[in-house]
Amino acid sequence: MNRTNTVVLPYLGGTLTIGRGPIVVAAGPCSIESADHMAISGARARSSGATLYRGGIFKMRTSPTSFQGLGYPALDFIASAKQKMGLPFISEITDPRQIEAMLSVVDIFQVGSRNMYNYELLKELGRGQTPVLLKRAMSATIDEWIKAADYVVQGGNSSVILCERGIRTFETATRNTLDLNAVAYVKAHTNFPIFADPSHGTGRADLVAPMARAAVAAGADGLLIEAHDHPSCALSDADQAIGFDELAELVKSLEPVARAIGREIQT
Ligand code: PEP
Ligand code: MN
Repeated sequence: MNRTNTVVLPYLGGTLTIGRGPIVVAAGPCSIESADHMAISGARARSSGATLYRGGIFKMRTSPTSFQGLGYPALDFIASAKQKMGLPFISEITDPRQIEAMLSVVDIFQVGSRNMYNYELLKELGRGQTPVLLKRAMSATIDEWIKAADYVVQGGNSSVILCERGIRTFETATRNTLDLNAVAYVKAHTNFPIFADPSHGTGRADLVAPMARAAVAAGADGLLIEAHDHPSCALSDADQAIGFDELAELVKSLEPVARAIGREIQT
């Protein structure tokens, strides 16, 4: 199986190397809420030190009555908003029928926790060349997660990043339990670049910064962080959204942690 250890993306006229390069901070809202919201949050993510912008268009919500994302109509403004922002863009794909429409706007397809076992989606993404960030299902073993990633690789797309986003445990004080064992394990035993998502991993804004630093110390090649210009008003995952001032402080605080393990943060 031809797994690569780096995923390379165009970035501000240069390239962003994910995996063996500097640690990448991806940040932005859980859901893109409007064209203006993308413009504001994109600019603020960038000035806070993020080098990849995240934002959901198609959401997989537990309740069918919760906000489901803007969906296809959002694709009309995303290409131009993205160009103005200048950051590469990662967004979740929830159905293989979205691939064609999303191809022109995303730099990385995110496969969410709820779709880690959707092997037909993984096979379809394996037929393309767009990098895939594969989140761990909330109750998947590390072995099941790696095998899911190999569905993409086997199809011919070796650009796969794994993302630990917290697993279900008996603990109820936090939304999930961020499994940093998994970060260290993937790093030690596979070639895949590994991200950590301290936002879904904790479900609490106050725990995002400490767990982000812990993930970097454990060897994460990148972080996926939910940030919002008005966190309490976010249309999805408000409890875990941090503000952009907080994000800027957090990114700064990662530098000494990265240095301590001989790495740096991508700027
Ligand atoms: C998300 O990143 O907004 C998301 C839905 O994540 P997960 O699939 O980890 O729940
Ligand atoms: Mn979310």
